[in-house]
Amino acid sequence: MADLGNPRNTIAVLQKYQFRFQKKFGQNFLIDERVIGRILDAAGIGSGDCVVEIGPGIGTMTQYLAERAREVVAVEIDKMLVPILADTLSAYDNVTVINEDILKVDIAALVQEKNGGRPVKVVANLPYYITTPIIMGLFESNVPVESMTVMVQKEVAERMQAKPGTKDYGALSLAVQYYAKAETAAHVPPNCFMPRPQVASTVVKLQRYEEPPVKAADAGRMFAIIRAVFNQRRKTMVNSIANAKELGVTKEQVLSALECMGESPAVRGETFTLAKFAQFADLL
Ligand code: SAM
Repeated sequence: MADLGNPRNTIAVLQKYQFRFQKKFGQNFLIDERVIGRILDAAGIGSGDCVVEIGPGIGTMTQYLAERAREVVAVEIDKMLVPILADTLSAYDNVTVINEDILKVDIAALVQEKNGGRPVKVVANLPYYITTPIIMGLFESNVPVESMTVMVQKEVAERMQAKPGTKDYGALSLAVQYYAKAETAAHVPPNCFMPRPQVASTVVKLQRYEEPPVKAADAGRMFAIIRAVFNQRRKTMVNSIANAKELGVTKEQVLSALECMGESPAVRGETFTLAKFAQFADLL
């Protein structure tokens, strides 16, 4: 029976092991079972699923995942949590805890071993200090991931789903929207965590596309251009791209590509859709 959804049991476990929260690991543990239920429902976890959980903490959501999924692989960086997880997950024989940094684990090899290379579902209450590298790493490395249902800082969730022409629109919006359909599953206030974070949180589900919604001959090059444009978002695209020496593109080349597309030479990246960036990158 999953029992860590009850905050009293969480406190008892923390006291039993005299656990000290580590700020540097972004440790804010969930203490609200309704939120956990909503995450699992949004992720659509069923008895055939293999789930990768990033940062299980003391195993609160892991218990619920273990009850619903076929197999759970939980990657936790903090070695102080390993004996606690052995205790809180002792009733489950379908959970493997790996004490490593998620940014260093060979996830493709893990998925091969645990799920025969078939796509897994990623579920996590993410450590916020590395949200973007975790998500982009999973997308860009071509690990077979069907979906990621993740708790992130509210502002990050907004940037992921932002549309062209809005203040939140940027490189993260374009990268996420290239790889996945993003949907908000829940808004979660600070009092659902222990300790309470300084920020509000949102659960987003990123359902990976089988094929990206736009075709770019070289997606890596397109994202290098996108990053250059949004690193200097107040400048025109002509200037921000010409200033990014690593791209090796001249002002004249940018102007001629924009002209081909019927765009003004004074256009800024904030208004460019993903489809336009793909066309632009191909022209350049
Ligand atoms: N899943 C737990 C919960 O919801 O109660 C804990 C979530 S807490 C926000 C983030 C967890 O990620 C912590 O347990 C932290 O130690 C772990 N973590 C932080 N950095 C990590 C990394 N690089 N690799 C793996 N786990 C990490």
